[in-house]
Amino acid sequence: MPVLFPAEAPPQPPRMLRVRDGLKDGLGRGITYLRVSVTEQCNLACVYCKPRTGQSQRQEAPAMSRNEVVALVKVFTSLGIRKVRLTGGEPLLRRDLETIIAGISPEVDGRVHLTTNGFHLARRARALRDAGLAGLNVSLDAAEGRTFERLTQKKGLTKVLVGIEAARAVGLRAKLNTVVLRGWNEDQIVPLARLAQREGLQVRFIEFMPYLGNGWDRDQFMPAAEILQTIQEGLGLELEEEPPLGLEEGPARLFRMPGSEGKVGVISTLSTDFCARCNRVRLTSRGELKACLFGGPTVGLLEPLRNHASHEDLVQLIRRTLTDKLACHPMRSGDQPALAHGMWQVGG
Ligand code: SAM
Repeated sequence: MPVLFPAEAPPQPPRMLRVRDGLKDGLGRGITYLRVSVTEQCNLACVYCKPRTGQSQRQEAPAMSRNEVVALVKVFTSLGIRKVRLTGGEPLLRRDLETIIAGISPEVDGRVHLTTNGFHLARRARALRDAGLAGLNVSLDAAEGRTFERLTQKKGLTKVLVGIEAARAVGLRAKLNTVVLRGWNEDQIVPLARLAQREGLQVRFIEFMPYLGNGWDRDQFMPAAEILQTIQEGLGLELEEEPPLGLEEGPARLFRMPGSEGKVGVISTLSTDFCARCNRVRLTSRGELKACLFGGPTVGLLEPLRNHASHEDLVQLIRRTLTDKLACHPMRSGDQPALAHGMWQVGG
């Protein structure tokens, strides 16, 4: 007879709290996606991101150590976070990035992604893949060297293209992200769409967002609808919209280009309201949880972690903070948010 009830249960390792219904904000939106900035430092000075009004872009507070990043991510994954994206600043400036990825990857069944400017990608691609990286988004705002340099304040388009190639060669799925600024790179929309068409890549065009110190003005803003029209006219074809993406794939609308594996997409943070589907939260490199890209509430998790707060205490802090996650970001209602961080600190 098989023993159905052994006399004594074997000793169990201590369990992290797993909550069946996951992490929800005060409005009942399920939070399943965490973006973590691992450094504020960046090797580029993109005109849409860097401070134009005197804020220092240098890191003043030390970033989380790799163990701290992994420890905090584990608290979130115990609450139901299923996907993690590492960003910055420029995450490839961290030499221990592969170790961080390797620490996080098993917690999210391999769903660790990276957003990078691709500058140091060529020599790191294989190690990133081996550490467990699932895929990456490479920021590329121009297909032509002089515009790239004007936007990023650095030469290096070829380096980024070689990096993208290296990532694909080792089997990493690479998508391109382009922030469109009228007067700066709207003439790059069609060449980048052609690059996607030719290489079977996905390029997503992002509306320029106002952020701390980045000098946003309405004249430089180009709405997604106009970006799509520019692509259709420039390529002389009708784009075919794909079915909406799953929540964890993000808010982009994607379009097929007939006759190509490549896709173009738009992320219309300002012209479309997708806050009702928001499933994401952010952790800055200083260990602050930000419930919304454009505002509060924010809470510091690093100090409690360093002061040996219990898992349950950290869970409570996170839950309490998310209770007040904004229903919608302030710009949708015409307000300029009072921002405490720059995009290079939050990670986009
Ligand atoms: N250094 C990495 C990179 O270049 O991708 C990661 C950090 S960057 C802040 C993350 C993302 O934010 C990039 O895709 C970037 O294009 C986007 N971003 C930065 N400032 C933006 C702005 N003002 N409007 C829209 N997207 C922005």
